[in-house]
Amino acid sequence: RTVFVNGSYLPEEAATVSIFDRGFLMADGVYEVTSVLGAKLIDWPGHCARLARSLKELDMAAPCSDEDLLAIHRELIVANGLTEGMVYLQVTRGNPGDRDFAFPDPSVTKSTLVMFTMVKTLESGNAAARKGHRVISIPDIRWGRRDIKTVQLLYPSMGKMMAKKAGVDDAWLTEDGFVTEGTSNNTWIVKGNRIVTRQLGTDILHGITRAAVLRCAADLQLEIEERPFTIEEAQAADEAFYTSASAFVMPVIEVDGAAIGKGVPGPIAARLREIYLDEMRKTAV
Ligand code: PMP
Repeated sequence: RTVFVNGSYLPEEAATVSIFDRGFLMADGVYEVTSVLGAKLIDWPGHCARLARSLKELDMAAPCSDEDLLAIHRELIVANGLTEGMVYLQVTRGNPGDRDFAFPDPSVTKSTLVMFTMVKTLESGNAAARKGHRVISIPDIRWGRRDIKTVQLLYPSMGKMMAKKAGVDDAWLTEDGFVTEGTSNNTWIVKGNRIVTRQLGTDILHGITRAAVLRCAADLQLEIEERPFTIEEAQAADEAFYTSASAFVMPVIEVDGAAIGKGVPGPIAARLREIYLDEMRKTAV
């Protein structure tokens, strides 16, 4: 692979970051993952805007202009011949040359920007979407600023391992009796013509796919409720699904061993996946 690190395009073997980088020592960094379909970026404006917000919330300077970021994404897609997959982007507070809790002076220590491509076929996603995923619930013990897309992914990784150990596909996180989100996605339930997903706040990531799917749901004239829901409500729903940039709309057919609806992917999730993908292909850049 050709990857990008701090202004240079390099073979991945030659790309390095300092051991003093604050991303490595302190998880002091943010990231974005943008999907690629037909060699084009899906919902780039959404990801670009969220990156700016994450950086601002952590008092980090943007590594370069939005136009430059888009140009690097494009260059990596071309250099790697990527038609389907993702572009990963990470910005950290850089390398102050030592380990210190205090933030370094940003005029002295520049942020680190790393980007690389990942190959993932849409076909495999479609197969999984036809089958649906099974999830377990686990307590949400992450920090309180989940709206910032930081690289602190230890607990989500542990959640995926707990799911794997339980023989299911993913875990839904719960706090104070309500589902916050999935380990790496936003969660939804459907009852009749009503679609429910948690409202935005500091307790969940503001999913770019979530925002787009809300627009699709409005187009379908579904009744939208942005509020928390419990595992019991999910188990009694007609359908459930989750959304993320790389999984799009993924039906969930079982939560904590209880089948949802008929225990197979539902028509509303399937329809939302279809119109989301149609819309995104049209606006890809
Ligand atoms: N919540 C969390 C915790 C995530 O990691 C992700 C994936 N980035 C999402 C939600 C979904 O966000 P998006 O639709 O922007 O990929």
